[in-house]
Amino acid sequence: MAVAVVPRIVVIGAGFGGLEVARHLKGAPVEVTLVDQHNFHTFQPLLYQVATAGLNAADVAHVVRGLFHHQSNVRFLQGQVTGVDWDARAVTVADQAALPFDHLVLAGGATVTYFGTPGAADHGFPLYTLADATHLRNHIVRRFEAADADPAELDRGGLTFVVVGGGPTGVETAGAMAELFAVVFRKDYPGLDVSRARVVLVEMQDHLLDPFKAPSRRHALDTLAARGVEVRLGAKVTSVAADHVTFADGEVVPCQTLVWAAGVQANPLAATLGLPQDRGGRVVVGPDLRVPGHPDVWAIGDIAATRDRRGDLLPQLAPVAMQSGRHVARQIRRQLQARPTEPFRYVDKGTMATIGRRAAVAELPGGIRLRGALAWLAWLGLHLVFLVGKRNRLSVLLNWAWNYVTWDRGPRLILGPPDR
Ligand SMILES: Cc1cc2nc3c(=O)[nH]c(=O)nc-3n(C[C@H](O)[C@H](O)[C@H](O)COP(=O)(O)OP(=O)(O)OC[C@H]3O[C@@H](n4cnc5c(N)ncnc54)[C@H](O)[C@@H]3O)c2cc1C
Repeated sequence: MAVAVVPRIVVIGAGFGGLEVARHLKGAPVEVTLVDQHNFHTFQPLLYQVATAGLNAADVAHVVRGLFHHQSNVRFLQGQVTGVDWDARAVTVADQAALPFDHLVLAGGATVTYFGTPGAADHGFPLYTLADATHLRNHIVRRFEAADADPAELDRGGLTFVVVGGGPTGVETAGAMAELFAVVFRKDYPGLDVSRARVVLVEMQDHLLDPFKAPSRRHALDTLAARGVEVRLGAKVTSVAADHVTFADGEVVPCQTLVWAAGVQANPLAATLGLPQDRGGRVVVGPDLRVPGHPDVWAIGDIAATRDRRGDLLPQLAPVAMQSGRHVARQIRRQLQARPTEPFRYVDKGTMATIGRRAAVAELPGGIRLRGALAWLAWLGLHLVFLVGKRNRLSVLLNWAWNYVTWDRGPRLILGPPDR
């Protein structure tokens, strides 16, 4: 008796894109293996709130296995993908057996790039993973404890926090830090002159929030300034040391914390695969999101150079990854039915960035522009909807409500060994 062969789909990465591929293959006659180096999915847009003690780490992450209890055609594997053996058509995983595939989906995301800035990789704090966020939170709280014990730390830059990059992550992080210091740490450290703590946001261009229109950019700038953030536009950090940063104009600022929110490059895994790459190392894909020359290989999300109908490169954002994931699941189903693939069409639903309590900007389709409290509420609602897991949504909602009503922040714990 002939045994039916079930196509094997291997998805590298359980991020926004990879999860959508697996979920949207529910019920399809395939065997999906979702492989990730972590056993959890991370909701990156809220990492800055973990770093600034607004949320617990577990609020913004979800165990991948827990998402597929009711989907029997998905298997999860925790492992570090090291490459692809194209001859054997198998994904190689560190210390584990290779994973043979009939279809391969590359969804490994992106990572930070320091643009070769001396010292930035050694002394800067990136904000890409949950570990980055808790590491930064530990470091921030430690700086305040050290300054409380010895106020001379202030002169050594102990409470100077430089954030590089005036995009949404930099703006959100700087705004949240200023709020944490002014509202919570002022009460936590009554013996310390917390007003001397500095948050400096550095942006090379002459404006913040590049993807936004001028009124939103101005609103972000004015709001941050009103909340005590020093915004330096047209400025560049040229080197970083453990106790100071140097600017392009030669100024040296004593500083023990540099948050790097400036550069993104495709996952370095992309460079090892021998596939065509575009700007920022992203894997080139055709209109249907297959890699040219590899009819069974797809790339989605931050690792892929996905273009819109006009040929413009799409931004590295969660909705692009999610919509691409759903598209690829649909195309794999079509291929199983011997139907031709369709081109990917991205539906832009707008962009938002929050600046702090009751302050955000949102630019939505149809020319709708929101600022202030209304944009902030829209931002909160949208993030709750997209956050993975009901328990996480409830926990985040409770935390936000608590923070709002009490002006307090819960998880400002120092965990783990000394960071430096
Ligand atoms: C701090 C921050 C804030 C952001 N804020 C927003 C926002 O407000 N709105 C928005 O739309 N977008 C935001 N983004 C961007 C958004 O998070 C990304 O566009 C989105 O996560 C891309 O999804 P992805 O599936 O391509 O990659 P990811 O979600 O990054 O998932 C990639 C997965 O691959 C895994 N992986 C990587 N390498 C390997 C390997 N070798 N082996 C095994 N597994 C591997 C990773 O562990 C990860 O789980 C933000 C990003 C960051 C870092």
